[in-house]
Amino acid sequence: MTWHTKIAIFDFFKGLFRPLAPRPPADPPGPRIYARSEHCISRALISDPALKVLYRLKKEGYQAYLVGGCVRDLLLGREPKDFDVVTNARPEEIRATFRNCRLIGRRFRLAHVHFGSQIVEVATFRGLAQDDETGDRVLENGRILRDNVYGTIEEDAFRRDFTVNALYYNIADFSVVDYMGGMEDHKASTLKLIGEPEARYREDPVRMLRAIRFAVRLGFTLHPSCAGPIPQMAPLLRQIPAPRLYDEVMKLFLGGYAVQTFEALRHYRLFGALFPDTEFSLSREEQGFPLTFVAQALDRTDRRVQEGKDVAPHFLFAALLWEPVRAHAENQIRDGANDIVAYQEAGADIVTKQIHQIAIPRSVSQPMRDIWALQPRFARLQGGRPFRLLTHPRFRAAYDFLVLRAESGEAEAALADWWTRFQDADEPEKKAMLREADRGNGRSKPRRRRHRPRKAVA
Ligand code: ATP
Ligand code: MG
Repeated sequence: MTWHTKIAIFDFFKGLFRPLAPRPPADPPGPRIYARSEHCISRALISDPALKVLYRLKKEGYQAYLVGGCVRDLLLGREPKDFDVVTNARPEEIRATFRNCRLIGRRFRLAHVHFGSQIVEVATFRGLAQDDETGDRVLENGRILRDNVYGTIEEDAFRRDFTVNALYYNIADFSVVDYMGGMEDHKASTLKLIGEPEARYREDPVRMLRAIRFAVRLGFTLHPSCAGPIPQMAPLLRQIPAPRLYDEVMKLFLGGYAVQTFEALRHYRLFGALFPDTEFSLSREEQGFPLTFVAQALDRTDRRVQEGKDVAPHFLFAALLWEPVRAHAENQIRDGANDIVAYQEAGADIVTKQIHQIAIPRSVSQPMRDIWALQPRFARLQGGRPFRLLTHPRFRAAYDFLVLRAESGEAEAALADWWTRFQDADEPEKKAMLREADRGNGRSKPRRRRHRPRKAVA
């Protein structure tokens, strides 16, 4: 989902009307144009569908540009994730130009041009705020809730987030059009917000997360004027709808740079705004295993992404929230609760709290809770229990989780090792391992069950 689509989703927010948007200078300086010979973007690197859309719009007499992440990435010689097109054609005109086109969004309409399974998103230039309350830009405490004005290319550039995200590749002459000094910043590997940083963060606090994501991913330095306000402004993230934060967290941690991103988020006090319970645990035990555990889980995630393997979001979230779950469960166990029940309840409690902040869908939270709930069962090696655990649908993920815990020194290495051998053993070996465990030689004895005293009914 792109930025345009997300802003369109905010339509349902009805709130106080307070237009407060930054405005371009009354007489903005013209753009700097970088001719084809002055930049490295070759048409060979642009996808066929995107090129077709650009050429077709041009043929119909419209302006047509690539913009945003694709231009930024092409200038770095990287393959863009997707190609976003902007034009002065209005949505209805775009639809009339392409047969394979659908308009989406209710207030701000975007065109999706379909080429088989590929979609090229085409947006009309967006404008800036109106000065009065009849304007289409609606803000609450300086944050954009609705936005729906078509405008000129200058206005479109001004309302983008970073200067390097506001470069336009013009299909008419293959030049790069730069209104914001993005090309210089790009050459200097600097990430700089357009406009006044505090106002831009207040307008949309998610820009703080985007700043970290791009700085880490591109290897750019966040300009001091943009880095400075983040720690004080981080709590503004609490205003952001939880589904949007879920999408952002996925992008932050599944992009292949999770370890560096995590460190930067903590440095700028953004991590605590996203995962308050985890931050609380980490800040108490700065040098201890909780930090090692999260760092190792994220490192594993990065390695899988680099190897082109899938990363299950439930494994990632299970790791990010493990320490609060563990601490909560261990407290209950100290109070006499059964360990399996304690882990189940702690998992449920932590998820219930966390989803106010980040809308983790059930399809992710349920397997997360399974992984947590299975952890105490790994310590029960008596009777047929290990055989039953092996057949549990979530065994593999839970076992991988146990190995990570052992690697960070939080679980017993001997226990993880026992399960590693047990899985690969043939039937007679398995039985022998269980006999040994029963004799108490293999792994520690089962935790003695203690029952919580029943609460008196009032
Ligand atoms: P990625 O490679 O991660 O997709 P991107 O820069 O393309 O990076 P998108 O979220 O796809 O990021 O957004 C496309 C463009 O829309 C950005 O480059 C930027 O110009 C603009 N944009 C996105 N989000 C915002 C925002 N919150 N505020 C202002 N402009 C934004
Ligand atoms: Mg993009």
